[in-house]
Amino acid sequence: MRHFQPIARVPGDPILSLMDAYRADRNPAKLDLGVGVYKDAQGLTPIPRAVKLAEQRLLDSETSKSYIGGHGDALFGSLLSQLVLGADNPLLANRAAATQTPGGTGALRLAGEFIAQCLPGRSIWLSDPTWPIHESIFAAAGVRVGQYPYVGTDNRLNVEAMLAALSHVPQGDVVLLHACCHNPTGFDLSPRDWKRVLEVVKARELLPLIDFAYQGFGDGLAQDAFAVRLFAAELPEVLITSSCSKNFGLYRERTGALIVCAEQAEKLQDVRSQLAFIARNLWSTPPAHGAAVVATILADCNLRAAWSNELDSMRQRIAQLRTGLVSALQTHGLAERFAHLVVQRGMFSYTGLSALQVSRLRDEFSVYMVGSGRANMAGLDAERLDQLASAIARVCND
Ligand code: PMP
Repeated sequence: MRHFQPIARVPGDPILSLMDAYRADRNPAKLDLGVGVYKDAQGLTPIPRAVKLAEQRLLDSETSKSYIGGHGDALFGSLLSQLVLGADNPLLANRAAATQTPGGTGALRLAGEFIAQCLPGRSIWLSDPTWPIHESIFAAAGVRVGQYPYVGTDNRLNVEAMLAALSHVPQGDVVLLHACCHNPTGFDLSPRDWKRVLEVVKARELLPLIDFAYQGFGDGLAQDAFAVRLFAAELPEVLITSSCSKNFGLYRERTGALIVCAEQAEKLQDVRSQLAFIARNLWSTPPAHGAAVVATILADCNLRAAWSNELDSMRQRIAQLRTGLVSALQTHGLAERFAHLVVQRGMFSYTGLSALQVSRLRDEFSVYMVGSGRANMAGLDAERLDQLASAIARVCND
């Protein structure tokens, strides 16, 4: 008997195959707008200076590599909860707490397992479109997945359709919301829209699971937390998945948390006991290094200021690239058609380019983006915006 004989091959991640094609491309003018990591003007994904300094300190001060507990580094958990919920949030007294996870992905999987095991029968509702891994994470955890409309084929945010769909979601189900910098579209809800979503969530008694993977990449650390803080203030129970991958540049260190807000301190502890139990079966205890780096930065006012300034520059660079590209497109009479690029927030943009236009950009101009037309704006090169605008004009006007 050959045990592996019936095993079929699953197709690779389309973004990773795109990366392979990019690497193999010999055109020196090639442009990678595919993979979802921040890039600086040199095309590198930098390690923030505050991270390097914190790592140096840890190298000297670390005395043990013993396990950290099931909820992870307690200082990290408390400082990250403050960053997410606001330092003066009354929930932090005893009604909100973080469980450290391997990245935002780990937090989502932990949330998925929690829903499957502790809230059986509840479905989770995802925006259409969403980060494709959302669907596979919840399906893998055994949670039924539904969709609510978000951005239509006209490449516009459709809040009315979203609200209408959410108002028919079965009472008590879970709704996943992107706090800011919606991946893949870049279209975010306005504060007014968020208040309307909150009313539907209240009316249907839904449990919000807010995915917060880009804090600081939209409009600022506090501004990006608007929805998270609104929901945490107005609802008895909220789940938040926070990632330090992008804003601390800690991608490979797998640093994140699932933050739970509960109505009573006792219930919070019940939920946390379940999370520790579930995490025990997934990864036992989380990796220590990234969380120790984040805690070191957030606890030190100089490091914290240096980090937040660097994060501001990352955000500003993306915003400048967005406006720069739209003005370069103006020369080709396309500024209006692509005006949404400056409305969108974060690294990603649904450009509105068709699959055919995306493949022409790749084949004829060595510009690589995802087939859906999603472009990572941080991958743009400020010196070559005119060149890209001409390429876009060619594929749009031919
Ligand atoms: N949620 C969203 C919307 C994301 O885009 C990402 C990263 N691409 C994550 C969660 C997970 O991030 P990580 O596991 O790298 O922290």
